[in-house]
Amino acid sequence: MNTQVLPVNEESIALAAKLLQQGELVALPTETVYGIAADARNGEAVKKIFEAKGRPQDNPLIVHICGMEMLHGIVSEVPERAKKLAAAFWPGPLTMVMPRGPEVSEVTCAGLDTVGVRMPSHPVVQAVIKASGVAFAAPSANLSGKPSPTNAQDTFVDMDGRLPLILDGGESAVGVESTVVAVTGEHPMILRPGYVTKEQMEAVLGEEVLVNHAILEKLKDGEVARSPGMKYKHYAPKADVTILKGSFDAYRDYITAHAGDGVWALCFDGEEAQLPVPAISYGKEGDGISEAHNLFTVLRELDRKGAKTVYARCPLSDGVSMAVYNRLIRAAAFRVVEV
Ligand code: AMP
Ligand code: MG
Repeated sequence: MNTQVLPVNEESIALAAKLLQQGELVALPTETVYGIAADARNGEAVKKIFEAKGRPQDNPLIVHICGMEMLHGIVSEVPERAKKLAAAFWPGPLTMVMPRGPEVSEVTCAGLDTVGVRMPSHPVVQAVIKASGVAFAAPSANLSGKPSPTNAQDTFVDMDGRLPLILDGGESAVGVESTVVAVTGEHPMILRPGYVTKEQMEAVLGEEVLVNHAILEKLKDGEVARSPGMKYKHYAPKADVTILKGSFDAYRDYITAHAGDGVWALCFDGEEAQLPVPAISYGKEGDGISEAHNLFTVLRELDRKGAKTVYARCPLSDGVSMAVYNRLIRAAAFRVVEV
């Protein structure tokens, strides 16, 4: 299949809308990362997403809408909490898991009786949903297991030959996937951290928001994941990544002792020149927003540089940094060394 990369304009939006209506795939920019869209109601179309990504079929997809009225048929009920969170954070990088409605294909939800729904703020996604009238299922536009793409070039690297159209809308502002929160049940619970934080949601809801323990820890053998994305090694470059937890001095000393061919340091801004191996920064220390914005781009850059072993500085694990830690620890297949 020939994959076209087109700049965003009226014609390319119309083409994207037509492809979606015909049950084809379109890769497009969102404010979180680039996504691969297919009509969420059309099981045959959604199956193509799993094929293009090589994604396990038991991992559900998020449905994207552009107005509250589109929830009708997609969810069977809009819980009170969801209304409050939508008023505060939609359109934006928040996905809410709600009871599934009759119009969503089983393939989209991987057979679950719930559906994750999000209203993105990116003008290109909104324009494509409006032009097509299609609420679309969309995961990140990477091959399964690789870092999510945050620009059209990285999307093309993974999706060339696998879908007909990539819309190039520049770089994604947030850089990591949406926060996923389950809003039914006794307490709301974060299933995947993102740009919208636990503290922000608690302020809106006036109640505690739980964090599923699998977000920051490895699942025990045989334990069932609440959200299927928790199971897999994920977001990983080709290199073996290890997180080194401790001071900068201890980090530098550890790398000095382990320097060698193909060894790279994944550090914070301003530390590069002080390290004995080639180094690349993923943002400002303690600034989750800048780290989230850069992380996936930098992981892909390490692949292009041919890194074989990567030692990463450890981010914080609260606020937006929780999202950074959650992605990095999966890229590192949970290898964390205290230094
Ligand atoms: P991605 O499509 O790459 O953004 O990943 C979507 C993630 O959203 C999945 O891996 C799940 O963790 C989560 N998700 C989507 N729908 C549901 C659902 N119905 N129940 C629980 N988690 C969900
Ligand atoms: Mg993904």
